[in-house]
Amino acid sequence: MSQNGSTYHRLLNTTRWRRLRAHQLELSPFCDDCSKVGLLVPATEVHHIMPVEGAVTPEQMAARTYDQSNLVSLCPSCHTARHKQLGSHKRSKEKTAERVKAEVDAFLARFS
Ligand SMILES: [Zn+2]
Repeated sequence: MSQNGSTYHRLLNTTRWRRLRAHQLELSPFCDDCSKVGLLVPATEVHHIMPVEGAVTPEQMAARTYDQSNLVSLCPSCHTARHKQLGSHKRSKEKTAERVKAEVDAFLARFS
């Protein structure tokens, strides 16, 4: 693991992060990316908009980690998609809607 990777890990393994993360999901309980295409999907993950591992100093990493305005609530697959697509073009609306529908079906199947 890189130096930044282990610092990031340490920053997330704190009560401060867990509280902030819980607060973010309370403020914004639905996936932000899914909401943009009109779908209400429960968010279970919190994403850092400005990548923490892209910060230069440990202080800068901490600032990005704990900045509420740097956070966005996402569902697991939008979170994965954001990491895959960081810096690249946005996928089509249609494709997102399709993927989300499959996800919602899987979610409902699990809990019914
Ligand atoms: Zn989503």
